[in-house]
Amino acid sequence: MEKIKIGFIGLGNMGGGMSLNIARAGYEMVVHDIDREAATPLLELGAEWAETPKQLAESVDVIFTSLPGPPEVTSVSTGVDGLIEGVSKDSIWIDLSTSSPTLIRELSKKFEDHGATVLDAPVSGGVKGAQTGKLAIMVGGNESIFNQVKPILDSFGDKVSYTGSIGSGSICKLMHNTIGYGMQMIISECLTLGVKAGVKPEELVECIKNGSVGRGNLLNVTLPDTYLQGKFDPPNFALKLARKDVSLALELGREYDVPMEAASHAYNELTAAMNRGWENKDSRISLLLQEERAGNIEVRVDNS
Ligand code: NAD
Repeated sequence: MEKIKIGFIGLGNMGGGMSLNIARAGYEMVVHDIDREAATPLLELGAEWAETPKQLAESVDVIFTSLPGPPEVTSVSTGVDGLIEGVSKDSIWIDLSTSSPTLIRELSKKFEDHGATVLDAPVSGGVKGAQTGKLAIMVGGNESIFNQVKPILDSFGDKVSYTGSIGSGSICKLMHNTIGYGMQMIISECLTLGVKAGVKPEELVECIKNGSVGRGNLLNVTLPDTYLQGKFDPPNFALKLARKDVSLALELGREYDVPMEAASHAYNELTAAMNRGWENKDSRISLLLQEERAGNIEVRVDNS
């Protein structure tokens, strides 16, 4: 693997750190960005400069891109002097951008016609993670190609997962980020209400960090023990008790004039589940309502 030549396009906040870690692992590199200055640290480490994505693709075995989003991914890959004009049989293009699963599936077909393979491999861990090599990388596409390039991925990520066919990495990443932003919304509701109702911000944040939310129990313990197994009996925490808690929080919100949109949504969901006669089941049974709305999609994980 050591002799492999690597191209990297998009040397910004994320790409800058990731490409430097690849270079530090000893791979020979060719780089490109619309902002040539962004390449300075790489060029100082001995990387070559390519004038266009096409030129870069012609001179390397594996190409990485870390671009803002779908328009840039499209123009770099299939625009004028794009990657597709420079790839050959056995070229591998790995897109690290957070982009559209449908787009990468379409681009993958076009590259296949030139004998090249595409993997989508978005990352999570932020700029600091990109600098320190502490990134999750979610990789979709041909599994044997994934195994072939895994040592390169390991040079800039510490949690590398194979997620399935092309596009699946992007799907995982979009679901991951949307969970984060949804959680952020309800966190801000509860922090503003808690502070307005009289708790010091530092005390409130500390209590939330120390509780099961802050310990990450939802993803690591509670959902795996209940919802992900479809197991709601006997209850760990009964639905009627969960609804009582959210109801009390909404009462407090009314008392202190704090709008609680996300919490009201959660309350309505728990109430609809109560109306199914599930009050004495585990509270996570309410998640079955969304499975029904999604078209009877079952999310079960066999952790035996
Ligand atoms: P950025 O804007 O800092 O970097 C993008 C780089 O691409 C820039 O250097 C820019 O000059 C270059 N570029 C743009 N268009 C180009 C083109 N047509 N040809 C060549 N180079 C071009 O963005 P970023 O924060 O590094 O994010 C990159 C990707 O990683 C995005 O898809 C983002 O959603 C994702 N991401 C970002 C973070 C984060 O915390 N910043 C975390 C995880 C994932």
